[in-house]
Amino acid sequence: MAAGLHLAAVERHYRDSAGRVEVLRGASLTIEPGQLVALVAPSGAGKSTLLHLAGLLEKPDGGEVFVAGQPTSTMGDDARTALRRAHIGFVYQFHHLLPEFSAVENIALPQMINGLPKTEAQARARELLAYLKLAERATHRPAELSGGEQQRVAIARAIANAPAILLADEPTGNLDPKTADHVFATLATLVRATRLAALVATHNMDLAARMDRRVTLRDGLVEELA
Ligand code: ADP
Ligand code: MG
Repeated sequence: MAAGLHLAAVERHYRDSAGRVEVLRGASLTIEPGQLVALVAPSGAGKSTLLHLAGLLEKPDGGEVFVAGQPTSTMGDDARTALRRAHIGFVYQFHHLLPEFSAVENIALPQMINGLPKTEAQARARELLAYLKLAERATHRPAELSGGEQQRVAIARAIANAPAILLADEPTGNLDPKTADHVFATLATLVRATRLAALVATHNMDLAARMDRRVTLRDGLVEELA
């Protein structure tokens, strides 16, 4: 497959004091460009593990992760990092914005790491902020933004490099319902406008119901939900 995200029979296990913990036992999942998929499963089921593998932050113990059509398990760390920077955006439950930088600077940084000159990176950052109706917050630092604004800036940062894949780990888990709704709407609009393949771990069933598909993790396998 060319674009999107494809996990093929991915396995992951950890060792702890009690022995081997089998988290993923052959999990498979395909997300097409423009598709917004909810990952709904109890705590400890392996949602974050699956997102880390999909985002090339961890390597599977078996199976294969395809990003932009490329198998990644035999790649070296530099190639994986390059592929991640070019194709994958992350959003976490906590915004992880750099506290000493403004909203514009936080969104410009990943673009500058990818080689874009500062003026161009900041121009695109301002465009994204305007698109998200945050133009008047451009020079604010994270501490001067509300929780919902912080998460929308974090979403803008995640997609600043025009990735093909967006991975979000409980991105609204920290927000009140109304703010969660607004942040989710922002995310959904961006996914559809830019044809991202998006996987969003969430406990919020209302938001899950508004995504294109819902999947869960059961006994280390991905199962499609109705
Ligand atoms: P979720 O995000 O669904 O809550 P996780 O993917 O964080 O689940 O964790 C799944 C299981 O894997 C849990 O039992 C957790 O304790 C275990 N686990 C996750 N990361 C590690 C690790 N680095 N070392 C050992 N066990 C881990
Ligand atoms: Mg988790």
